[in-house]
Amino acid sequence: MERTLVVGAGIFGVTAAIELRKRGHAVRLVDPGPLPHPLAASTDISKVVRLEYGADETYTALSEESIEGWRRWNRDFGVSLYHETGLLLLRRTPLAPGSLEQDSFELLAGRGHRPELLDAAAVRARFPAWNADLYRHGTYNREGGFVESGRVIARLVEEARNLGVELREGVSFGRLLEAASRIAGIVSTEGERFEAGQIVLALGAWTPHALPWLASELRSTGHRSSTSPRTTRRRSGRTGSRSSALTSRPPGITAFPCIR
Ligand SMILES: Cc1cc2nc3c(=O)[nH]c(=O)nc-3n(C[C@H](O)[C@H](O)[C@H](O)COP(=O)(O)OP(=O)(O)OC[C@H]3O[C@@H](n4cnc5c(N)ncnc54)[C@H](O)[C@@H]3O)c2cc1C
Repeated sequence: MERTLVVGAGIFGVTAAIELRKRGHAVRLVDPGPLPHPLAASTDISKVVRLEYGADETYTALSEESIEGWRRWNRDFGVSLYHETGLLLLRRTPLAPGSLEQDSFELLAGRGHRPELLDAAAVRARFPAWNADLYRHGTYNREGGFVESGRVIARLVEEARNLGVELREGVSFGRLLEAASRIAGIVSTEGERFEAGQIVLALGAWTPHALPWLASELRSTGHRSSTSPRTTRRRSGRTGSRSSALTSRPPGITAFPCIR
């Protein structure tokens, strides 16, 4: 059987390799490594898992499936790397049609989920880490939470190995190998040839650098992201993040509870 080559072992590459292997393909997975690659978007310490994607029904349906998948992995891995803490969305101005919060709320309620609307009193009572004088409007959904993303990749790489995926770290894609008008493999930056019947390039934000002719269509951008500092246990016994950090920054804060 012709081998399938997956290039890039972030979440897309490693899950593609596992799925192809399960479907009976001989699979080789290559990455510069070390895995999980410290610069890969998939690594990091945490990533949000949510159902809230505004009015986008397709994405919402995919996220429903993904949450089932995360719960299944928690069971199968024997370790919980998905933490279903629920998802809180807060804003300073009232919810309005066209806002992520309201559109998500309406779509999710219509699909049988049970998101809740919050006012300032509810924010103050239930989520005291947040300044309810500023963040007076929001929604809370018990479904959703966050994953320990770097640990997930490490676990999936192990799973791929156990399933018989041939893993090669220390390999960087250099160029496509073309033969008789078809792509027959890749050549690494070190000049090593990797021939394959099918090739999956899962290079994430590196894609337009590896395939420069896509640079006009795909652009890597950076954006600011911040995570809450250590959480503090209050005398009441409730856990909350230091509120100063959560009130002094502009909107767009992502905060994860501390789990250890
Ligand atoms: C700051 C930030 C926060 C995010 N937060 C969330 C979130 O909370 N929830 C969420 O769902 N999503 C989030 N995302 C999006 C999510 O992380 C990405 O969509 C996902 O990780 C992309 O996975 P990937 O496999 O495509 O890419 P990556 O994880 O980047 O993997 C690409 C792989 O390709 C390899 N590679 C690179 N160059 C080469 C080469 N020349 N040859 C071979 N291999 C190569 C790399 O080593 C890497 O392992 C976030 C992204 C960022 C950047």
